[in-house]
Amino acid sequence: MESKFSALRWALEMTQFWKLALPDKRFPVDVEAIATEVSRARFPKDPLKGIEGGNLPGFEGALYPLGNPRDGWGIIYNNAGVAPGRKRFTIAHEFGHYLAHRHTLPPEGVKCDSKAIIRRDGAGIEKEADEFAAYLLMPYDDFKQHIPPSKKPSIDDLIACADRYGVSLIAATLRWLEYTERRAVFVVSRDGGALWAKSSEPAFKSGRFLRTAKETYMLPDAALAARDEFDSQGRATAIHPPGVWFPEETEEMTIRSKTYDLSLTLLFLPREFRYAAVIQSDLMDTFERMTSRS
Ligand SMILES: [Zn+2]
Repeated sequence: MESKFSALRWALEMTQFWKLALPDKRFPVDVEAIATEVSRARFPKDPLKGIEGGNLPGFEGALYPLGNPRDGWGIIYNNAGVAPGRKRFTIAHEFGHYLAHRHTLPPEGVKCDSKAIIRRDGAGIEKEADEFAAYLLMPYDDFKQHIPPSKKPSIDDLIACADRYGVSLIAATLRWLEYTERRAVFVVSRDGGALWAKSSEPAFKSGRFLRTAKETYMLPDAALAARDEFDSQGRATAIHPPGVWFPEETEEMTIRSKTYDLSLTLLFLPREFRYAAVIQSDLMDTFERMTSRS
């Protein structure tokens, strides 16, 4: 019953397969070749028959059945105005659905939107397919050799990893955020409003996150991402005093993505979390809000 493996179990198996097949050239992972070869060898009656790009309205990728009765599957990914890095992650995500979920999908297959694939913010099988893709394309053991969990990476370090794994800067940054020991917050914004944000676990646990789910979070006026003042490489860095982003000193590194008209911002908080001082300052903020309302 190997098709009942979990998505992560499949990712482990695919990684072993790839290591053995091409030990000297592991990265970037050629996900199209793996998907095609593995499905034909392991599931010859139900293989992946095609992987194609297209202009997809409102979604990033899909896995859909072919033939009646079904004799295979197709993957389609969005390639309209999309940088090459995104394509690899989308195909890996759909390959994850094929391996782990194809027996339980509805008759029309599955369509996956940008919230699930680009933000990695889906639930259930979407989350599983994302974990499969991240594990296959950016294994922790390799990633941690390039950016150790205790290291504060530069934007260039993260760009180097994105290039190594052939994924987008957003995908590489989200992967690093999953294991870093640093308190860091990643913010994706446009025109001074945060579209979404994600905190590393140490940042989240210390109360450092942005609420972007229900309404647009307007960036602080002093935020570089809101000021549109970048150097010739489209970058800006600053150390902000307490009270700009959070009630403690915050280092901001922002880079403009012209392809998507987005600003990508990494916020680093001090390594030592001065709990008492921060709680005191938060209490004062709350107190001031309450008294100013009355
Ligand atoms: Zn999906």
